[in-house]
Amino acid sequence: MSRLALLSVALAWILWAPVRAQTPVVADSTFHAVAYVETITSGAAAAARALTAYRDATLGLDGCLRVDVLEQVGRPGHWVVLEAWRDQKTFDARDASSRMRLIEALASIRISGYDERPYKVLSAAPASSAVGGSAVSIVSHVDVAPNPAVAPMLTRLAEASRQEPGNLRFDVLQHMMRANHFTVVETWRDQAALDAHVAAAHTKRYRDELQPLTGSPLDERVLKALPGGQPVRRAAAAPSSLRLYLFDCGVIHTNNGDAYSLKKEEMASTEMSIPCILVAHPKGTLMWDNGYIPDRAFPPGGGQASSGVVTQDKPLLPQMAAAGYRPADITFLSMSHYHGDHVANANSFAAATWLVRKVERDRMFSDPPIARSDPANYSLLKESKTILLEKNEHDVFGDGTVVIKSTPGHTPGHNVLFLRLKNTGPVVLSGDLYHYPEERSLNRLPVAEFNREQTAASRAELEAFLKQTRAQLWIEHDIIANAKLKKAPAFYD
Ligand SMILES: [Zn+2]
Repeated sequence: MSRLALLSVALAWILWAPVRAQTPVVADSTFHAVAYVETITSGAAAAARALTAYRDATLGLDGCLRVDVLEQVGRPGHWVVLEAWRDQKTFDARDASSRMRLIEALASIRISGYDERPYKVLSAAPASSAVGGSAVSIVSHVDVAPNPAVAPMLTRLAEASRQEPGNLRFDVLQHMMRANHFTVVETWRDQAALDAHVAAAHTKRYRDELQPLTGSPLDERVLKALPGGQPVRRAAAAPSSLRLYLFDCGVIHTNNGDAYSLKKEEMASTEMSIPCILVAHPKGTLMWDNGYIPDRAFPPGGGQASSGVVTQDKPLLPQMAAAGYRPADITFLSMSHYHGDHVANANSFAAATWLVRKVERDRMFSDPPIARSDPANYSLLKESKTILLEKNEHDVFGDGTVVIKSTPGHTPGHNVLFLRLKNTGPVVLSGDLYHYPEERSLNRLPVAEFNREQTAASRAELEAFLKQTRAQLWIEHDIIANAKLKKAPAFYD
């Protein structure tokens, strides 16, 4: 470093000393991953799709706080991915399958590798959520020879810049291993706000000081966020009253009703809907049926997944994230029954307490494994905290608003879910006690039940219960009725 540079650093130190004294000392263990990747120009749309799918999937993971995907202005295909995590341990232990899908999707269109660097926080403040379409971001490197003046210099710049009216975010990150390498992340309301920042006295002073230390012009890339989506995972706040969220987990494209003793001409539709279902109560959450196609089976570049006669447009966890829920927010997991179209994402909720009947659980882990389900999709439940339901009715939160009701027959431990919603009124979610509304109106039983007599008895009992409580019956697989229902992030309350 030249003597002149030393002098200017020393001067700045003196000039800014009073400002520095106000710096709050906050222990921040947030971990940041900053990645760069370049893709070919003709692959920009495919890259945007893959990166959007990656962002949405990653936001659904436990401990992920935000994911920004930015593209350089004027240089399409130059991407920066910014991730913030609760701490490094959480980042290291995360489910990396969405990352693997991203790398796969980029394989044929990338020019560079996926260059990711680990950072801790030097100076960060909560970012403004008022980020509009005209916002611009800058991600710049400050790599200097080790020098104790640089970190305070950057901290002061961050604090002064956050006071500017057009600033939405100003974070200074420090490389985990190389303490003299920094990344500065800025977001400004629009180009005019950025121009005002560049012209501000504190910015000029910082540049005058820094340039002699780096010996090179500042590397500042102006970037814009990918449109759509929300970079910040909203925390799930407990609602003041019961809510029911329905997610779209696909369609079963069957073309006849043979398995349900129904002729095609008797049916309004032979197709079936697959809803995934989440209940949010002031005291906790219950994940009910959760799909046929597990999220990990979605194509790497985003887009529809299919398996056998089932198609699904969007994976479950990003839909949940959009409603403000991640797997770690789930208190209880309970599924109507173990068939494959109700349990696909069960492993994602293995940290929840599993509510299940013993006879059902025993069959799920039987040797040889049961048919009509893929045990790999729920294998982790074997170690989950489990409550074996013994009574016919299990009141999940103790206030009668969420009740699991025994309705055996389709499987030995099949249940329906009774909900007492404030505005919607009482509702029963059918599981597979019925699949088609015509089974109910024409009084037909499926051909291959675990126990048909039991199913008939369970149906008779439930019909009496519906009369007595005046509850609506929502048949989960009824594609016509389900199409009319609100989907998350909207909810029933
Ligand atoms: Zn089913």
